[in-house]
Amino acid sequence: MIFDNANIFDGERFHKGSFAFNICFEDQDDEKLDLDGLWVLPGLVDTHAHLRDPGQTRREDLISGTRSAAHGGITTVFAMSNTTPAIDNEAMVLYIKEKSQHAKVNVKIVGALTKGREGKELTEMHRMARAGVVGFSDDGNFLNDASLARHAMEYAHEIDLPIISHCQDRDLGVGHMREGWYSTLYGIYAMPDVAESIAVSREIELSYLTKAHVHIAHVSTARSVKLIRQAKKDGINITCDVCIHHLIFTDEDLHDYDTSKKINPPFPTAEDQIALYEGLEDETIDAIITDHAPYTAEEKEVEFQLAPFGIIGFETLLNEILMVSQKGIKVELLLKKVTSDPAKLYKLNEGRIQKGLPANFVIFDPDQKWIVSRNTIQSKSTNTPFLNRTMNGKVIATYVNGRQVYGNVENFGKGILRLA
Ligand SMILES: [Zn+2]
Repeated sequence: MIFDNANIFDGERFHKGSFAFNICFEDQDDEKLDLDGLWVLPGLVDTHAHLRDPGQTRREDLISGTRSAAHGGITTVFAMSNTTPAIDNEAMVLYIKEKSQHAKVNVKIVGALTKGREGKELTEMHRMARAGVVGFSDDGNFLNDASLARHAMEYAHEIDLPIISHCQDRDLGVGHMREGWYSTLYGIYAMPDVAESIAVSREIELSYLTKAHVHIAHVSTARSVKLIRQAKKDGINITCDVCIHHLIFTDEDLHDYDTSKKINPPFPTAEDQIALYEGLEDETIDAIITDHAPYTAEEKEVEFQLAPFGIIGFETLLNEILMVSQKGIKVELLLKKVTSDPAKLYKLNEGRIQKGLPANFVIFDPDQKWIVSRNTIQSKSTNTPFLNRTMNGKVIATYVNGRQVYGNVENFGKGILRLA
């Protein structure tokens, strides 16, 4: 099978025009498909999502969540540990692995750092590592106990896996949006930016002490970016990511008290958002995530201060990337942050269009328009501010290991990439 005339993004840059660059599958007769005007991207790698399975399956489960991911062009998803019960032991990891056999896309598992994510007792990290977790996190809960966090990092360093840290001081980081001019104007109880950066500095210092790889999840403030930039310069083993929605919305956008915009960390101020752009451009920020966090309508359709934090994100990720590129950030850089860079960060053999890699890729039409609606959304939940909005660009088909998991191009069977 040959895809002709496409703009192929190899994980770093686009190849187009006269470039003779086709994708074939083993054991297939040559057959041509003209993809003129379309993009071929490596399958997107989303290293931070909440699939709600087990225990919260009214919101999402492994099947609906990965169907939603496939719809958005994501071929690998990291399932965070804050399920009910938490993914905090070997048996739970094996359960997710077993159930993921039927998932639409690849699922990687992030194990909890402490039992029940309660911050009191470490999990059996070695056993969970043997069962196949890709990192450890009590995401949603910052581990306040610095001594326990130090021990966790020592183990993580030994196992050679990262700790993914949700940086938010437990006492200071309460409130429903970012503290500032707009929280005052809107009358919403808010959390200051330093609730995040205080926790970031603690993690930097402990990483310096233990040499563990600490990955700071969803940075959202200028102070955090500045601290991480300096830590990297100092040779400390710190990496970080940013949520795609933090690159689009700011605290001002909460004027309508829309609970689908209530997220944690909250929308940044305009100044913080500029710092996030700068962090992306100088590669202080290593990856972009969705933090896909489904909640049912019953949970979200309440007063702003009563609503839970979370936004769904799989199905609009590429559209949001196009929106951010409109603000002057190079689209190649943004695409790299959802393909080759996160794959590199977690040592995954994907995120690139490259000979010999599993055929995980996406065909995307940057010009096609569609409307996000309850009918198009594949997730069980619809908590997105893009509901009923017209999106630019549409995923045409998604392939995982050569198998089409979304779209209407014919099935090519299992395959490995072979470049002509
Ligand atoms: Zn988090």
